[in-house]
Amino acid sequence: MKFKQIDKGLVHVYTGDGKGKTTAALGLAVRAVSYKKKVLIIQFIKGPWRSGELDLVRKLKPYLQIKSLGQGFVKILGDKKPFAVHKKAAQQAFILAKKSIKSGKFDMVILDEINVSLKERLISTDEVVKLIGSKPEKVELVLTGRYAPAKIIKLADYVSEVKMVKHPFNRGILARSSIDY
Ligand code: ATP
Ligand code: MG
Repeated sequence: MKFKQIDKGLVHVYTGDGKGKTTAALGLAVRAVSYKKKVLIIQFIKGPWRSGELDLVRKLKPYLQIKSLGQGFVKILGDKKPFAVHKKAAQQAFILAKKSIKSGKFDMVILDEINVSLKERLISTDEVVKLIGSKPEKVELVLTGRYAPAKIIKLADYVSEVKMVKHPFNRGILARSSIDY
């Protein structure tokens, strides 16, 4: 194979059932910011707890911005919110994602947990396919979350599936602050 250097943004997917998807995306964000790149993270599913990531980001302004538009987990962890509430929040997050990607203001856009919104049909996969196809060349796009749809996997350039081999949750240990969130 003949290797070449390219100067355009590519598409990443972090999926699978193991720990490390959001933290991998954050790692990419930190690396990009250290090269003075502008990064936007949009959280599609906001946890029911305060997200530790938000505090870090305040310190990294103006390079890193984070927007949390989700309505918490869908159908798990005692979720009682109507589907329409989740759908509206996801749709708004997606509108912001489209606008931000096209704005030219960001070198990297991370759509955290968007795959879960696709699985729950809060957003249409075909619309995300369209967005990937029409993104400005320079934008590095990162999608995280379990259940990445096949159509997205096919389009992406980097696809990493984190496989759960062990997780303390399965021994009854709850998510730990500063490690899991
Ligand atoms: P992290 O944010 O730690 O990188 P993740 O993004 O890969 O995790 P998610 O599917 O977004 O994982 O899950 C969010 C939360 O659930 C995190 O607190 C994470 O530690 C935890 N978690 C991840 N994998 C599992 C699992 N297999 N069983 C139970 N909890 C998990
Ligand atoms: Mg995650």
